[in-house]
Amino acid sequence: AKSAGKNGFRFYSRAMDHAVERRAHMEQELRGAWERGEVSVVYQPIGRTSDGRILGAEALLRWQHPELGTISPAAFIDVAEQSGLIDQLGPRVLRQACQDAAHWARECGGEPPFVSVNVSPRQLRHGELPGIVAECLAESGLPAGCLHLELTETALISDELQAGVLLTRLHGSGVKVWLDDFGTGFSGLSHLRRVPVDGLKIDRSFIADMQRDPDDLALTSAIVAMAHSLGITVVAEGVEKQAQRDLLAGLGCDLIQGYWLGHPLAAGELLARLSARS
Ligand code: C2E
Ligand code: CA
Ligand code: CA
Ligand code: CA
Repeated sequence: AKSAGKNGFRFYSRAMDHAVERRAHMEQELRGAWERGEVSVVYQPIGRTSDGRILGAEALLRWQHPELGTISPAAFIDVAEQSGLIDQLGPRVLRQACQDAAHWARECGGEPPFVSVNVSPRQLRHGELPGIVAECLAESGLPAGCLHLELTETALISDELQAGVLLTRLHGSGVKVWLDDFGTGFSGLSHLRRVPVDGLKIDRSFIADMQRDPDDLALTSAIVAMAHSLGITVVAEGVEKQAQRDLLAGLGCDLIQGYWLGHPLAAGELLARLSARS
């Protein structure tokens, strides 16, 4: 596939066939991956911008394929979504994340940490999510306020009315609603009126360029100010450098996530970071 560019059209279409084949193959492999123990959940710390204190974590899927090695969800979430496999995977991540976070809360002392779980558009489209969430909270004992659901704009647009109803119900039960990848879509602002939003995550593309691109800095600053005037908490994603943290602290951004604070960790490692806080 690497030589496709040099060899013109024939290879381009062959590369496309190849991509279709790869998707089909991936779907097949993904089916049963959880049962085979190849899929796990890791947790990336989220901390206070002012002093780096870790307050929670985002649950991220990892697929350890026997031959291909670790595959990022960026490469398989689409396949899981389109094939419907997310209907099984999504609730499993949610259940696992609630159990792990409830365990951290019992072990680490101090204020109970939150766990943030990604919800895909498809999970919002059918009405089962509130029931599944209620079940996971009840069986783990995790307080509803410690569970954050991360939604992208795509999830909201795909069926705005249904999504609005579901999210209002979830929010009413105490679960926090977060907008993911904020700033990359087209209508981010209108959602803030229609959907109960507790927090938003500024997409890491803004953070990456913030130091050289004055527009990105201005946009980040405006997002923080706007969110705060609406009573919404702000997380900056993809914070890799001290200088970025310093800029964000100056803007009053509440929370940060990124390699500077920590890479995604196994549940036990995250507990160690939480326990070392005080
Ligand atoms: P996301 O929600 O934007 O998650 C953040 C991604 O950025 C993660 O990639 C994380 O490892 C990466 N990241 C974190 N800090 C940094 C940093 O400082 N620099 C850079 N360059 N990257 C950083 P990951 O784990 O590969 O996940 C990719 C995407 O897959 C996620 O993007 C999310 O949209 C999706 N995803 C992950 N887990 C789940 C899940 O359980 N369910 C659903 N529906 N989607 C998931
Ligand atoms: Ca996310
Ligand atoms: Ca994100
Ligand atoms: Ca830019």
